[in-house]
Amino acid sequence: LCLPKDIYQTRKNAPGFDWAEQQQLAHFNNLLLSWPDDAFFDPLRTERSPAQSSHADIQKQLQVIAAPYLSKTKDVKQLYSNAIDAQLTWRETSLETRSNCLLRLAEKLIEKQDALLFLLVYEAGKTRSDALNEWREAIDFCFYYAELAKHELHAQKLPSTVGEENYLHYQAKGTFVCISPWNFPLAIFLGQSIAALVSGNTVIAKPAQSCPVIAIYSMALIKQSGINEGVFQLCLAKGSTIGNLLLSHSEYTHLNLNGVCFTGSNKTAKDIEKLLIEHPNKIPLIAETGGLNAMLVDATAQHEQAILDVLQSAFYSAGQRCSAARILLLHHSIYENFVARLQQCMAELIISEPNLAECDIGPVIHAAAKHKINQYIKLQQEQNRVIYQTPLPKHLTTQNYVAPCLIKIDSINEMREEIFGPVLHLVCYDKAENAVEQLNALGYGLTLCIHSRNTTNWHKLATQAKVGNIYINRNQVGAIVGSHPFGGMNLSGTGPKAGGPNYLKAFVNEKTISENS
Ligand code: GLU
Repeated sequence: LCLPKDIYQTRKNAPGFDWAEQQQLAHFNNLLLSWPDDAFFDPLRTERSPAQSSHADIQKQLQVIAAPYLSKTKDVKQLYSNAIDAQLTWRETSLETRSNCLLRLAEKLIEKQDALLFLLVYEAGKTRSDALNEWREAIDFCFYYAELAKHELHAQKLPSTVGEENYLHYQAKGTFVCISPWNFPLAIFLGQSIAALVSGNTVIAKPAQSCPVIAIYSMALIKQSGINEGVFQLCLAKGSTIGNLLLSHSEYTHLNLNGVCFTGSNKTAKDIEKLLIEHPNKIPLIAETGGLNAMLVDATAQHEQAILDVLQSAFYSAGQRCSAARILLLHHSIYENFVARLQQCMAELIISEPNLAECDIGPVIHAAAKHKINQYIKLQQEQNRVIYQTPLPKHLTTQNYVAPCLIKIDSINEMREEIFGPVLHLVCYDKAENAVEQLNALGYGLTLCIHSRNTTNWHKLATQAKVGNIYINRNQVGAIVGSHPFGGMNLSGTGPKAGGPNYLKAFVNEKTISENS
């Protein structure tokens, strides 16, 4: 499959953005006046942001705005009945028409760049560059899956005998529940849903509770792209209550829940698996979960490049990526020197409100996340393992910020759970093969980065490592749709990889039709 020429990330002239205007918080009011769907967004017009609000204030205000759109328990039955009513017509809609809806959605996303970037910064706490990259990724998913569907999902003629014609058809499974995380509230939310949609499924999307307005806003754009309400529905609710109802076996879900696409924690993926086992039919689960990802820097590596990649992979995005580096493996011959330089660079990182141009590290998503990460750091401090933490500016200490933190551990085996924040564990290694063997034994398998100028060495390690995405001499975050199909193995996910050539096939059933003429 050739990459569509419109893939945004890779396009040199991808549009930039006038952040100067974005910085004016008064812009918030203009945003509210430019919502895509008047009727749906009517209550938003009455809300006004104070002229000067912090990121956290606006985040709170957005939660209030979203409140009327939250689903209730009784809505679950209605969601399934709407999905079933819409199913047949959508499945029978031509591949081309379905693909065109995605292309129209890409246009809408481009048109509404200002609102979407604003929401990514203020609702999700993303830095400007993270917001821009996520917005581009969402557009890439639209172009890529639109093209992939046309390429991969049409019926195939098979070898036939005289008087018989054989075809392999791909048919939508039915209704998918798509559960997306708060760390990519636009790109993963849309990526999952449009993959299911373009394959002919109806979708009930359950986005993360922390970023409801991005989902509500996108929902309106999806509708404008020609995908109507029964085909794509939003269920804004707490995972542990209504999310459970969406997946549990009941009179509504019986034979009507045909697939689940999930990105989030490993624990939630396991809970989902348990719910799906209750069903009489086997319901496929496409899960992308976390990782205990490592970056290995050997004795031949180029330090300047490796240090930049550590900062980007472990601390940027406040460490809130499932691909982020959690373990830094340094060869003993470079350990002292590398750690000293890394600390100097960590001291230079700018922690600030995410809307500011100079921000390197923005906030974590909410107070509960901050608490959890800080509890972990405190525990490590008690054991004298924290060797450096970037100073946190005083005025941010009461808000949801966690400063990048470096922790020294004796062995990879001490790693237990993924800490979803800017926390990096240092390990000094002797033999790279042994280190990779220990990483494999952790059971996770999402990303691995190897910094080495010895091709034979990194080849061997890349073959040995049981991970889904391997990056050599570059950072290990920010997979590009079509170029870096993304997803892990073992505890890190089921596959197939998002943004890769095999993804859509997971949303369809194969049907062989043999016609004797
Ligand atoms: N695809 C993202 C990346 O490559 C990570 C997705 C996630 O955190 O779930 O960094």
